[in-house]
Amino acid sequence: MATDVQIAVCKVVSANPATGEILREFECTTQAQVHAALARARAAQPDWNERGVRKRIAILREFQRMLHEKKSEIARLITREAGKPYVEALLTEILVVLDATRFYVDNGYRLLREERVPHGNLAMKAKAGRIVREPYGVIGIISPWNYPFSIPATEGLAALVAGNAVVVKPSEFTSLAALELAWLLHEAGVPKHVFQVVIGDGAVGAGLINADIDKLVFTGSVPTGKRIAQAAASRLLPVILELGGKDPMLVLNDADVEVVSSGAVWGAFVNAGQACLSVERCYVHRSLYEPFLEACVGKTRQLRVGDGMAADTDVGPLIHERQVRNVESDVEDARSHGARVLTGGTRLMELGPNFYAPTVLADVTHEMRIMRDETFGPVLPVMPFDSDEEAVRLANDSEYGLAASVWTRDRARGEAIARRIQAGTVMVNDAVSCFGISEAPHGGVKASGVGRTHGRFGLDEMVRIKYVDSDRLPGVKKVWWYGYGQAFTRQMEGFLDLQFARNWGQRLRGALRSAGVYARKGKV
Ligand code: NAD
Repeated sequence: MATDVQIAVCKVVSANPATGEILREFECTTQAQVHAALARARAAQPDWNERGVRKRIAILREFQRMLHEKKSEIARLITREAGKPYVEALLTEILVVLDATRFYVDNGYRLLREERVPHGNLAMKAKAGRIVREPYGVIGIISPWNYPFSIPATEGLAALVAGNAVVVKPSEFTSLAALELAWLLHEAGVPKHVFQVVIGDGAVGAGLINADIDKLVFTGSVPTGKRIAQAAASRLLPVILELGGKDPMLVLNDADVEVVSSGAVWGAFVNAGQACLSVERCYVHRSLYEPFLEACVGKTRQLRVGDGMAADTDVGPLIHERQVRNVESDVEDARSHGARVLTGGTRLMELGPNFYAPTVLADVTHEMRIMRDETFGPVLPVMPFDSDEEAVRLANDSEYGLAASVWTRDRARGEAIARRIQAGTVMVNDAVSCFGISEAPHGGVKASGVGRTHGRFGLDEMVRIKYVDSDRLPGVKKVWWYGYGQAFTRQMEGFLDLQFARNWGQRLRGALRSAGVYARKGKV
């Protein structure tokens, strides 16, 4: 009940982080309203499921058409609410969702249909098995502010196509993007109660977990993820946890400095570094260290920081001032422990309180917070290494394991190193963009999370796997039923030899010894 009171008084605000303009204020959804939303979702879900995958796919296709038509309007809204440059909103939000929809439209039916399960065990040959994929019921989604449209959309679309109802609790900073998503889905034909949004802060998220959801997809920070895992454990709620990252970038000694420095600068500063997959630590072979730093500094200084609505802006503001302070504090910690600030390292107060200059740091070490904690800001800390072995060791020396990248002219070498890095995804010669590959599973290892979203594996997370097995000889008692005795034991020994003995003579003898079993009738 204490939670009810806490939720009832809360208000959240959507504001433009570039200008401070208040876009809209919301009263938080109360706990009672969260429960009511769940009840409506549960009541509406069976009908949604019974429509079948093909009809749901038709609605997704319409959603895709409408999203494409409204791409500019929605991208502008995302930029105003989350700060990222308009072109990034187009590429990392709208394009990602259009393509994810394409994936579910093209593959949803094939991936969700029943699957025959052939039986290898000779004793089970008279049975027919099927994998049936059943929706969980109501999926709860709790999402962050950094990709306020594409995260709830890609997760929500997977849940919907599989026949679930969805209740989303977006970040308190980006309610408008989630409401826009809901509006589009409803216009496309998803029933109102099948996709709902509840508004508010962490307390409302906690309320959603306590309500009657069947599975939770959480995307956010590691500390919140741990709290959520604890809350979910108390009622054995299945959860997917898409958490933070400290993604390493490994630049091998054969890399092309001109290309790789551009990749590093984009990978570290896209969305002002507020991407779970952004380059958070960069390791460069010592032979390339100085030219690489020089190239990165030159390219970073060319970046135009400003309001994301301006067409020539490369880097927008951080989401709020608290985030700026986090970044500032990590950079100061590095500086005080001997890191060199080659460019940036300051706020850009002339642009507003939420702007921080894209920053390149050299001579960082693993003793500094900047190489251990998720910074989530426009900082590229660079450290040299002497051997591939050392690079792999440094990459794996982290509590996180979301993604990583390896940069080399030799793809085979890059892929060999990729296999040794502890991460959910490793890209060779690019970073971050795996989020736009709808076929690719997304998720982490170690503290970066549990479970997968996106692609085939993401769809499988949205269904319960049920196994249905039916016996083709319903009128026959099974030979393994009661009525044990010496004869049956000998037959079974023979049966095991028939199937598993390594020499053919023993197999043949096994076949003869077990032959009688087929005529055996259960005695009980
Ligand atoms: P956050 O953990 O502060 O909040 C995420 C969501 O959880 C918000 O909606 C918030 O209101 C809600 N929440 C907070 N406390 C809660 C509680 N006790 N119970 C239930 N819900 C609660 O994260 P953020 O600052 O919004 O997002 C940034 C973080 O998200 C970064 O760590 C980033 O790496 C991570 N992230 C991960 C991925 C991924 O796919 N792995 C993608 C994007 C962002």
